Amino acid sequence: MINRWITFAACMVVGGGLGWVTAANDGFGPGLVLGAFVWLMLDSFYLGRLLRWLRAEQNNDTPAVLVGPAPAMRGIWGEVVDRTRRLLKNRDQQNQESQTRLDEFLAAMQASPSGVVLLDAQGRIEWCNQMATQHFGFDAQRDVLQHIANLVREPAFRAYMASGNFSHDVVIPGNASTPARPVKLSVHVHSYGKGRKLLLSRDITAVELAEAMRRDFVANVSHEIRTPLTVLAGFIETLQTLPLKEPERVRYLTLMAQQSQRMQTLVSDLLTLSRLEGSPFPDTNEWMTTSALFAQCEQEARALSVVLAPQGHQLEFDAGPACEIAGVQTELYSAMSNLVTNAVRYTPEGGQVRVSWTLHPDGRGEFQVKDKGPGIAPEHLPRLTERFYRIDRSRSRETGGTGLGLAIVKHVAQRHGAELHIESQPGHGSCFSIVFPAARVRRSHAA
Ligand code: ADP
Repeated sequence: MINRWITFAACMVVGGGLGWVTAANDGFGPGLVLGAFVWLMLDSFYLGRLLRWLRAEQNNDTPAVLVGPAPAMRGIWGEVVDRTRRLLKNRDQQNQESQTRLDEFLAAMQASPSGVVLLDAQGRIEWCNQMATQHFGFDAQRDVLQHIANLVREPAFRAYMASGNFSHDVVIPGNASTPARPVKLSVHVHSYGKGRKLLLSRDITAVELAEAMRRDFVANVSHEIRTPLTVLAGFIETLQTLPLKEPERVRYLTLMAQQSQRMQTLVSDLLTLSRLEGSPFPDTNEWMTTSALFAQCEQEARALSVVLAPQGHQLEFDAGPACEIAGVQTELYSAMSNLVTNAVRYTPEGGQVRVSWTLHPDGRGEFQVKDKGPGIAPEHLPRLTERFYRIDRSRSRETGGTGLGLAIVKHVAQRHGAELHIESQPGHGSCFSIVFPAARVRRSHAA
């Protein structure tokens, strides 16, 4: 500050001195005024430079970088420039840090598996992430400041927003929902700040589907067990209350044995399924020969054929090239035997059933069961591997079916990296095959 006074005094002295020298006493006064004027001009010049620089800074689009070097000035203006420059730099640094934090926060919200929508106090969209655009069909740019109730017109959602009670969520159809492929969203609003709202959406289609499947499964199992149980209870009551003759007693006991066998098979299939779902995928350390698996299947098929049809079936077993398959022996046998016994069970007496093993040129191995049974209509094919899905219920029950056989086959195939193919035409028989990947098939060492 002292420098400023000194400069002012110097200007006055020089002005006064010049006035004195040029016009003695008359020139001294105007000289002083001229000196003050020159000082003022000089000061205004510095102030102008500073203002120009500050204005340019204010209009700067990239606040992280100063628009140009600060004007070089001395004295008090130099200090003002220096302090302003430091203040600007600090402000820009803080801005940059806040921007980085905001970007990181928004990136985290973008990465969220839930849809996130920020609403202002009027319920207008301020920001939404990518997932929310998919869930509701918003446009992240175009729909900013649009009222959410104008964009999501689902009555349940509008009622939820209007109620102001956000203690629970609301389930509505998603943007991509169609009658064939329904999509369900769980939407939950949380209030924050001054009337603002955070809307979270979650795709719960899979959860709802799993829940529906669980309900169906429990209902099916209960139904399957209740039927033989009811029959058993009836026979027990009859045996307890009526004085039966020996042949009648034997007949009832045989029927009771059949019903309990049916329950045992069902429980055993259920346990197999739960084991398949709960155990890790089989590795490729254990190898078993296809000939051993074939022998077991053949034995079972011939025994079943005799029980079901006095005339039997035309059973052909072609074990093909001697090979080995890597996997779990009990699982592989269970899958193959299910296909073979199904063919025997659904093919009428005297019908042909052909079981074969082929090694493809690319190293894959195919286990195939072909029958000349009734065949399956195309509309049933995609659902055959669902649990308890049956086309011919009475035939299935009569022949000891549980409705779980093909579900087990599908699971076993998936666990061994294999594919289950089903081809069938009503009236022309069916062909079920499991194609094992080359990594799980090799020529037998013994061969
Ligand atoms: P199930 O114990 O009833 O046989 P599966 O899961 O093994 O149950 O089979 C499902 C349904 O697929 C059967 O109920 C039957 O209607 C049909 N099916 C399976 N294999 C054959 C076949 N070889 N020929 C005709 N229909 C079949």
